[in-house]
Amino acid sequence: MRCARCGHRFGLENFIGVGPGGARINVAGTTTHCPLCGGVARQEVDGEFDISADGRWRLLARALRSPDATANDYVLLREMLQRAERQGADAEAVAIEIKNSVPTLAALPSS
Ligand SMILES: [Zn+2]
Repeated sequence: MRCARCGHRFGLENFIGVGPGGARINVAGTTTHCPLCGGVARQEVDGEFDISADGRWRLLARALRSPDATANDYVLLREMLQRAERQGADAEAVAIEIKNSVPTLAALPSS
């Protein structure tokens, strides 16, 4: 989280209670109040996070914005990326697969 007023950065550890084994959530547009100045603080990165049982957040995937993409497209994309990671697929092959399978999300940044 980052305060829009004073720039203070802080975590959201107590935002969501997580049981043993952690959780996986999607975050988009989350805001809260800055603990220092009370200004509005925003989640800096929208995307999918893995939250471990000790409350640590790990970014799995940045939210990808496409006006034409459906929720199902994002599910497909995530599955594709996870499979690619397991198989050690190279970026170019993944990009081609995305283009073929999820054309609404084909205009992804290549980084
Ligand atoms: Zn602040």
